[in-house]
Amino acid sequence: MRKVDPFDYFASSIEHEFEFVEKYKAEGGKIAGIYCEYTPREIFLAAGSIPICLCGTSSETIPEAEKILPSNLCPLIKSSFGYFSSKSCPFMEMADIIVAETTCDGKKKMYEIMSGSKRLEVLELTQKSDSKSALTHWKSELARLVKVLEKEFKVKITDEKLSAAIRHMNCERTLLKEAFMLGSANPSFVTGMELALIRFRIAGFPMHLAMLELFISEIKQRAKTRKFVAEPDAPRIVLTGCPTGQGSEKLIQIIEECGAIVVCQEACSGIKPVFTNVDETKKPIDAIAEKYFQLTCSCMTPNKGRLDLLGEIAREFKPDGVVDLVWQACHTYNVESYSTGEFVRRKLRMPYIKIETDYSQSDKEQIKVRISAFLEMLKNGRAGHKSPRIT
Ligand code: SF4
Ligand code: SF4
Repeated sequence: MRKVDPFDYFASSIEHEFEFVEKYKAEGGKIAGIYCEYTPREIFLAAGSIPICLCGTSSETIPEAEKILPSNLCPLIKSSFGYFSSKSCPFMEMADIIVAETTCDGKKKMYEIMSGSKRLEVLELTQKSDSKSALTHWKSELARLVKVLEKEFKVKITDEKLSAAIRHMNCERTLLKEAFMLGSANPSFVTGMELALIRFRIAGFPMHLAMLELFISEIKQRAKTRKFVAEPDAPRIVLTGCPTGQGSEKLIQIIEECGAIVVCQEACSGIKPVFTNVDETKKPIDAIAEKYFQLTCSCMTPNKGRLDLLGEIAREFKPDGVVDLVWQACHTYNVESYSTGEFVRRKLRMPYIKIETDYSQSDKEQIKVRISAFLEMLKNGRAGHKSPRIT
């Protein structure tokens, strides 16, 4: 059998996913569409269904969305809605149910419109990260999801099934984290673009895991043969903020075209959701609720966990600077950029820049100019550069 190149595989993984899901569906399998990293994939797997992250990273569906939604919404919401209204996301068309959460306002109101023509369940994500009663409510929402799926898919979700799903997802997350940690090598053996492509849409797809193992071993091979992917003095960048996806990696592309290397993406499209696993020793539903509730999205208040994670990433990846991606009209990440910038500059003692943009290519040159100037500043400041210090 011809050896599959994991880099080619992940560049076109959607085709493999589509083939797999189409067959699975034809055989009577159930599919759940999801949008957000708060959605606990374990519960769908325990229900014998497949959770699929729905499309929302292309600029092409935005004009369609703007026929209904206001144009001053974040591109992620508009793109997702455009896929829905133009019926161009094959996974959404095949989905038996869509499960969403109350994260940001734009999404919540979008779900209301979608629910008119799709079986859609919204989980109430309570957003006070330090509140015990908020976590208790989140647990009850996940217990409710169990009941919803049991009824919808005519199955019984037992603790044993949940535990098996936890073990599976822990393996998947561990493998993804191992791949993301490869970015910590200095000089670099893997590019930010290569790492951006490995965030696949389907959980529990064995081919992805096999390809991920191959990806990791190819990068380790590069390390053995000292095959670097950037100049030894290339500035090392941590990307934080809003998530990217296939078709919306513009900023990563620009940073790397300008001669730097994105060593880690802190966002939901990067290391954040796989940084910790579900505790396998606790009651399954409680352990799942706790792990997902700890996700450090800007919709949470306070969101100190994001800064703690950035501190840990700074220690592991030894970046020269932090770039904060804010999708236009994403109020929570935009406002949070103030505290993020303060933390990076004052506590990590590192340069920081915020880039506010959308999915279009029209501001590419303008962003390039800003990123080039930022990288120049990093290079000039290197002589007196101190190691990241967490105080
Ligand atoms: S950034 Fe927040 S809303 Fe977006 S996917 Fe992550 S957790 Fe969900
Ligand atoms: S980028 Fe911001 S506004 Fe857009 S969906 Fe995510 S949290 Fe909501």
